Amino acid sequence: MTADTPLFERIALIGIGLIGSSLARAVRQHGLAGHIAICTRSAETLAAAEKLELGDSYTQDAAVAAKDADLVVICVPMGAYGAVAEAIAPSLKAGAIVSDVGSTKKSAIDDLGPSIPDGVHLVPGHPIAGTEHSGPEHGFASLFENHWCILTPPDGTNSDAIDKMTRLWETCGSMVEIMDAAHHDQVLAITSHLPHLISYTIVGTATDLEDHLKKEVVKFAAGGFRDFTRIAASDPIMWRDIFLNNKDAVLDVLGRFTEDLTALQRAIRRGEADTLGDSFERTRDIRKGVIEAKQDFMDKEEE
Ligand code: NAP
Repeated sequence: MTADTPLFERIALIGIGLIGSSLARAVRQHGLAGHIAICTRSAETLAAAEKLELGDSYTQDAAVAAKDADLVVICVPMGAYGAVAEAIAPSLKAGAIVSDVGSTKKSAIDDLGPSIPDGVHLVPGHPIAGTEHSGPEHGFASLFENHWCILTPPDGTNSDAIDKMTRLWETCGSMVEIMDAAHHDQVLAITSHLPHLISYTIVGTATDLEDHLKKEVVKFAAGGFRDFTRIAASDPIMWRDIFLNNKDAVLDVLGRFTEDLTALQRAIRRGEADTLGDSFERTRDIRKGVIEAKQDFMDKEEE
């Protein structure tokens, strides 16, 4: 791949928010596409993308963007996947790759798969990188650097298509792992989805406290609570869709979490110092492991 022969002649990005715009910037920076076609739902976001010069062509019609594309990457909330797939299907050319960046992968395959014509390769993906901000103005080219990107191609997917997607993400600075979609959803349920659910809950609980206490909560928000508020500021539509689309895996880990929380509750009530100490000692070791694995994102929250 050189500047003269980009990996893809035409990449269409359907959705140009935080992730789509970061991908547009990275693709441009690394010369991965001859043409970047940008599509978004609203005229307002389209105008913002054009002003930021994120692409080479701009449209609100997904079918127009996808026409003649070698790669179409869907970068919208998961609740919109079915409609987007139906819209682009008639314009997909034979041999094209359809991918996405969505946070749940079984649902991506279920929602996109039925509309993808024969001869078009579906290679779903999930960059484990992001922030709590939304919209094209918040994207940046280095977002994916040193972060994992998980690809979940269904069994039998064309290996050249998987290789091309691997090269795309590696060139954007990511480490790529190929995984079964169901396994991805279980792993992300515990590492990302449950922590977000807890954050939304704890900030909600604080918000429900009586007025005078609420003021104190905000005033004295030290590290712990402040971190929760940052996570709980994540896009509500996106997170609504994540929980709706990864229901089984989230309910499974939520059940385990609730049992563990109840055990700690009992230990506090009974004054069982050893139980509490041992539990916190064990989790401290996990923190060390996370840092050693270079997955310590204090400022850049992965989703
Ligand atoms: P975002 O900044 O809110 O941008 C969303 C984009 O999708 C915009 O272009 C928006 O269009 C469009 N869109 C929203 N609702 C739509 C609908 N119903 N139909 C068609 N288009 C619609 O979102 P994002 O953070 O980039 O997230 C996009 C995807 O990336 C999601 O599937 C999410 O799960 C995944 N993801 C996010 C993160 C993260 O940290 N944010 C990390 C990894 C993966 P308009 O603005 O024109 O309405």
